[in-house]
Formats: sequence, C-alpha cells, structure tokens
Amino acid sequence: MFLTKTVILKIANPDNDLVETMKKYSDGMNYASEIVFDKGKPISAMKLQQEVYPYLRETLKLKSQMSCNIPRQVAGCYKTLKKQKKVKWQKVEFSPSSMTFSYKRDFVIDEDTVKITTINGRKAYSILNYDYAKQYFDGSWKYQASKVVKQRDGNYYFHLCVGKEIPDKELTDASTFMGIDVGMNYLAVASTTDRKCSFFAGGEIKNLRNQYKSMRKRLQSKGTLSAKRMLKYISGKEKRLMRDVNHTISKEIVKFAIEKGISVIGLEDLTGIRDSTLSKVSKKRRHNHSSWAFRQLQTFIEYKAKEVGIITHYVDPSYTSQTCIRCNHISKNNRNRLSFRCEKCDYANNADLIGAMNIEHKTRDYRYILKSQGCLSATQTNA
Ligand SMILES: [Zn+2]
Repeated sequence: MFLTKTVILKIANPDNDLVETMKKYSDGMNYASEIVFDKGKPISAMKLQQEVYPYLRETLKLKSQMSCNIPRQVAGCYKTLKKQKKVKWQKVEFSPSSMTFSYKRDFVIDEDTVKITTINGRKAYSILNYDYAKQYFDGSWKYQASKVVKQRDGNYYFHLCVGKEIPDKELTDASTFMGIDVGMNYLAVASTTDRKCSFFAGGEIKNLRNQYKSMRKRLQSKGTLSAKRMLKYISGKEKRLMRDVNHTISKEIVKFAIEKGISVIGLEDLTGIRDSTLSKVSKKRRHNHSSWAFRQLQTFIEYKAKEVGIITHYVDPSYTSQTCIRCNHISKNNRNRLSFRCEKCDYANNADLIGAMNIEHKTRDYRYILKSQGCLSATQTNA
C-alpha cells in the first residue's frame, strides 16, 4: 500500500514576497473560479488557461509557472465537484491563507530549507524542524504537492505531503497481542499476551499539564480580553508540547511491540462509537482537554504500527479498568484510583496495567476475525 503523510513545518522567515504571492495566488484562483462557475459546467484546464492567462500575467503579474498552475487546479476542482452527485453546482471559493505547490516545479525542500516559487522568483525560506520530521528527509519518501498555510496565529507553515510504498505484510501467525491503556497517570501502559509489560510515563509531562490546567482555570475565571488571549497562547503551547510527547511515546511503544514480536496492537475505542449506554462512558472519553491528546497518541501509534506491518484494532473500552484479570469479577469497587484490588479474589495490581491487560484480552478476540479471513491456521489460535 501507498502510505501518505503531511509533515507540518514552520516557516521561520516569511517575507513580503511570500505574503504577496499567496494573496495574488488566491486572487488568481478566485478569478478563474468565477469564470468556470459562470459557464455552469466544468471546462478543460487548457481552455481555462487561454481565458485567464493574460489577466494572471499582466494584471496580477504572476510568473508563467503559476499562471499555468492556477487554471489547472481550478479546472480540476470543478471536475471533482461535478463528479460528486449530491453536491449542487456552486462557486468554489479559495482561501487567501492556503496555497498549493507542486514538487520540483514550484518547490524543493531539504531538512532546513524550502525553496518556493514566488512573484519575485524562487526564494529560500528556513524551516523550523521538529525532531520527528527528520525521518522524512532520509531519502525514502517521495514528495508530493504541498501547501503553504497561514495559521490563525499569523504564522506560516509548510504542509509537506510525503508518501512511500509499504509492502503489505502477510499475517500468517498472529499469536502475540498487545493491549495499550492510555491515561493520565501513565501516558500509556502496554501489556502483551505473554505478560510482558511496559510503562510509558512521559517524564515531566504530567506536572506540566497540571500547571497548564490550573493556569487555564485561573484565566477562564477572569474572562477579560487579555486573559482570553493568554488562554489561546497557552493552549497552543500545550498542543505543540503534547504533539511532540505523543510522537516520542508512540515511537517507543511501536519499538517495544517490534521487540516482543507483536502482530496486533489493541487500543480502546475512545470515540464513543461502541457505547451502548452513556453511563459506561469513562472519564477518559468525556470531552475535556485530555481526550484529544489520548486520541492523538492512539492515532500516532496506529500510523507508526502500520509502517512496520503491525495491525491495530480498537476494542470496546467498557469495564477494562474494573474487570479482574484472574477471576473476571467486574466491580467499581475493584478500583481505587491508582490501585486495583479484586473484592472477590483479592488479586491486586497497578490499575493502569489491569486496563492494558484487559484490552490485550479483548484484542485476542480479533484472531477469530483474522482466522475467518484465512490469515491463521487453527493450531496458532489456541493462545
Ligand atoms: Zn478477582
């Protein structure tokens, strides 16, 4: 399969040329869009180019390269619009805060510089690199059409689109599973079928998040304009911090899975799709400031696992923190904050680890699905 990803890189030194280029580009796109819309049906890129080229070149002073891109992109957009059966013919508006570039023709990139075609010729911009982004410059990824995006905070980002062919791994032996419990105490706890476990603490992150939380509370109670601004600022800071942490932790988790020869990673379905009753909704899934971070961590695990041929499977999270793994007794009383003690058989363990063990257990049921698809032989499923 072909795996694609978008890598977001901050442009360190956006200048007037870049700002003007984006403005004129969207002016050009909207000018061309108006023309196609008025015709009431899609037209070919070539035909559109003949109509808009003089305006783009002479009035907007765009380079010939871009003056060819614009009609091609706009014509393509309307063609796609027409194909969508339920969508009415309508004018497509292009935002001035986003601009698409094709690789080589309009941009080239390396680890710290992106060279972009602007109204003033090709210009080099420094990009601020995050650690996780380095891997996409190792030569194994193909670059595709990418975007410059102006974020609401006024910063410019390069959304680099990369792709690579991943060999489909044939699953012939799925006997080792791993359950991942995500939570506030430990960011993640992993437990495998053969009872190997690992705790991913995330270092200082818990303290930091608590600090952010109390800051948010204080600011929210103030409600002034400057408090609101500050709130926005710290939430952006927290998002970037969590994103980096989640990248690191997901990488460690998948590394652990590879070492233990895991075929399927089980995660809790936190989207609530599997909820049968609301009362079962755990704290984790209630919409709060943590839920997006949990989901992001899971998505990163899913993606990184896919790259190395490990399947991820989402299970119903009900009672995973309350079920005794020795006697299967389910009770709220089994759990007391961070510790777990079964009220029936007295089995005791770390509560997060119990969660991971139960998720692993539920994930094992997935082998029946794999078996029905002919992925497993009967002897391998007696785990
Ligand atoms: Zn028990």
